[in-house]
Amino acid sequence: MRAVVKFRIALYTVFGFLLLGIYLVAIPTRSGHRPSPENVCNRNLRYIDGAKQQWALENQSPSNAVPGVADLEIYLPPNAEERNRTLHCPSGGKYTINFIGLSPTCSIPNHLLK
Ligand SMILES: [Zn+2]
Repeated sequence: MRAVVKFRIALYTVFGFLLLGIYLVAIPTRSGHRPSPENVCNRNLRYIDGAKQQWALENQSPSNAVPGVADLEIYLPPNAEERNRTLHCPSGGKYTINFIGLSPTCSIPNHLLK
């Protein structure tokens, strides 16, 4: 193989890796891919609310009953890490489970169950 051809192949290879590198770095920084803390919190509240409803149904609880975290655990994700994430606001807000008839809330004002 001629030296010029070898050089070109090497050049294209380096250029290819460079493009791949730029692509891989650019993906995580692209906006709109990562859910906002409000959205994650909303998803958590929805999950907790679903767990409350299931708990109430299975235990025939009145709408003023207040389940504890331990009561809801079996209705939350089975994976411990995921379950822990569901019970904590990504912005550090505090969750209040509330009674069955009232949606769970986060202490951060704009974190609402939609
Ligand atoms: Zn929150």
